[in-house]
Amino acid sequence: MTGNICVLAEQWKGQISEVTYELLVLGREVADQLGVPLTAILTGFRSRDLAARLGAADSVINIDHPLLAEVIPQTCTDALVQVLTGTRPGAVLVPLTNISLGIGTLIGARMGLPVVNFCNDLKVTDGRIEAHCVMYGGKIEAIVEARTASALQPAVLGIWPGARRADNGRTERAVPVTDAAVVLEGTQPIRLSKYIEPEAGGVDLTKQDVLVAVGRGIQDRGNLSMAEDLANALGGAVCGSRPVIDQGWLPLSRQVGKSGLTVKPKVYVALGISGAPEHIEGMKDSRLIIAVNSDPRAPIFNVAHYGIVGDVLEMLPALTAAIEARKAAGQHA
Ligand code: FAD
Repeated sequence: MTGNICVLAEQWKGQISEVTYELLVLGREVADQLGVPLTAILTGFRSRDLAARLGAADSVINIDHPLLAEVIPQTCTDALVQVLTGTRPGAVLVPLTNISLGIGTLIGARMGLPVVNFCNDLKVTDGRIEAHCVMYGGKIEAIVEARTASALQPAVLGIWPGARRADNGRTERAVPVTDAAVVLEGTQPIRLSKYIEPEAGGVDLTKQDVLVAVGRGIQDRGNLSMAEDLANALGGAVCGSRPVIDQGWLPLSRQVGKSGLTVKPKVYVALGISGAPEHIEGMKDSRLIIAVNSDPRAPIFNVAHYGIVGDVLEMLPALTAAIEARKAAGQHA
């Protein structure tokens, strides 16, 4: 595996996570530029079937063990270190999600490898990997050279979700799967006691094609019905920035941003949202962003594809009426 680019394939409750496909796309770009193979490493229990979904890699290493049924960073690290020890991958890409966050850093600490976290992009320059890192909700950006000590020394790279489009990493291609045996102690220091499920009955924002997001500029809970009307006209759902959730106008399951959900709908309509880094982090990869704000200097306009400078309370009924009129005329909204 010398020089290979490895991707830690994250799974959650029997499904490959979206971020895994994103990392496979990014890993493929890096591997191709370096002229080395791309390997996916999957941990789990009786989850070999999931390896078939990782055809974007050139090969898959499947680590199967009862203690890997749940993603416990320490246990996964024990397994991964056994597989990686003695090999010389070029880099190990690890998703920076709540599930996998700790694994990359633990691998680095256990194997004495350099770890670069908070990456949202990787580039190959003169045969070396450069990581583009974003910290503190976008307030600090840094270019970090991943390999410092020797050209053969691997690095562990923690990658934010959203680095690439997941769709491009899904393929039916069949690739070789190797089963790797590991020895894990029955008495792991950390065990999962139970899941606490999020409140039931909420809309899953991550599955919506259209999101109508409201911010403090909506001014009053009573005005939310106008946003609901627009969302209904567009066939989407309403979500909000943190102040809207903090005031109890929408449930926590509707919060977008750093301490909420990361969404990538086809259309994201931001109404009276200033565009703080913590909000942008959760929606910047939406395919089409339309912003309405009374302040022409609002940072949301830096990421919006279309912007309307105006009063959201005037714009909302006008937008909804225009969309309903187009639908009535048999045109696409
Ligand atoms: P404001 O920043 O107050 O902006 C309101 C906007 O509405 C302004 O731009 C104003 O010009 C406009 N406006 C006012 N009236 C009108 C009108 N009539 N018509 C049109 N426009 C109008 N925020 C999140 O959203 N999600 C998170 O997950 C999140 N996590 C955080 C985590 C941490 C650790 C921290 C420190 C902060 C977090 N925040 C988060 C908060 C974030 O920093 C901002 O405070 C928040 O996003 C601002 O929300 P807002 O844009 O709705 O409000």
